[in-house]
Amino acid sequence: MSRVWNFSAGPAALPQAVLERAQREMLDWNGSGASVMEQSHRGKRFIAMAAQAEADLRELMQIPADYAVLFLQGGATQHFAQIPMNLAGEGDSADYIVSGHWSAKAASEAKPYVRVNVAASSEAADYLKLPPHDSWQLDPNAAYVHYTPNETIHGVEFHGVPEAGAAPLVADMSSNILSEPLDVGRFGLIYAGAQKNIGPSGLVLMIIRRDLLQRAGRPMARIFRYAEHAAADSMLNTPNTWGWYVAGLTFQWLKAQGGLGAMAERNRAKAELLYRAIDGSGGYYRNPIEPSARSRMNVRFTLHDAALDAAFLQESEATGLLALKGHKALGGMRASLYNAVPPEAVEALVAFMRDFAQRHG
Ligand code: PMP
Repeated sequence: MSRVWNFSAGPAALPQAVLERAQREMLDWNGSGASVMEQSHRGKRFIAMAAQAEADLRELMQIPADYAVLFLQGGATQHFAQIPMNLAGEGDSADYIVSGHWSAKAASEAKPYVRVNVAASSEAADYLKLPPHDSWQLDPNAAYVHYTPNETIHGVEFHGVPEAGAAPLVADMSSNILSEPLDVGRFGLIYAGAQKNIGPSGLVLMIIRRDLLQRAGRPMARIFRYAEHAAADSMLNTPNTWGWYVAGLTFQWLKAQGGLGAMAERNRAKAELLYRAIDGSGGYYRNPIEPSARSRMNVRFTLHDAALDAAFLQESEATGLLALKGHKALGGMRASLYNAVPPEAVEALVAFMRDFAQRHG
């Protein structure tokens, strides 16, 4: 069995160098004679590793000192609920920008804890474009404004951080974090499930402006309160030690690649290559998204005849191109091009697509 080019939407490809290092260190991590999974998170070695991972992330993302970095659990989905629990008090409302499956879900999961105001939505356009900024009905008294910069299923992405007024901007960056440089200071809270651009599932990364930790939110158990996690350095209870460790390896790998500027350039070139192949196929392949809203991370496409889908999937897999099947809600294909997907993978995909189109007319 050899490694394939992996286009999975998540859990997704990890850098091979990260996997190899984790493999080398599996039985004897850091001279301890045991794996990282087998030792206390309160031990000196783990605490040093955890602090280094945070320091590397802060350096990569240029995170200002007045932001806390948390290594949490529960998946992004749990935080759809936990964010309003923490940021909104009784009777408060929050603005949600709905641009696809995940932001719609974030809005609906928040409803038990905050009055949800859908300030803008592109649902009527089948999420093929972003809600135009001049249509946003933002409430200046909102507890926060939530949006999803990259919609993993629908394949739309905000390019640049939208102006969101006075309320803190909250972003679900599960599928685009670390893919380009970011002005963290524009945000109140950034969160991301790890399983696309960071590491294994079961870890959630959160970057939160410290003043927001002072909000009383709703009555809740300590385990749900972000301020408690921050005060305990994300070790209020046993963290996902393995996930934290692999995330740390990914941060080191990103630094070795030249940081987020270099990743942004590589990601732009990868997406451009694939979109160019789709657009240049004379209608054989098609991407339905308005060009200015196309995602660099998740590229959707359909074949001109859906009857060819099964052959496309079967042959692509046989060629070593994994996980191109689109989300079941939308059909068609989807290629996810996260940081760990190298340019060679996209070149191989484009070559296969050309060849397939020739052979299947
Ligand atoms: N938000 C986005 C943008 C996602 O892509 C996903 C998962 N694919 C989620 C939230 C849900 O994440 P989780 O499964 O970690 O709860």
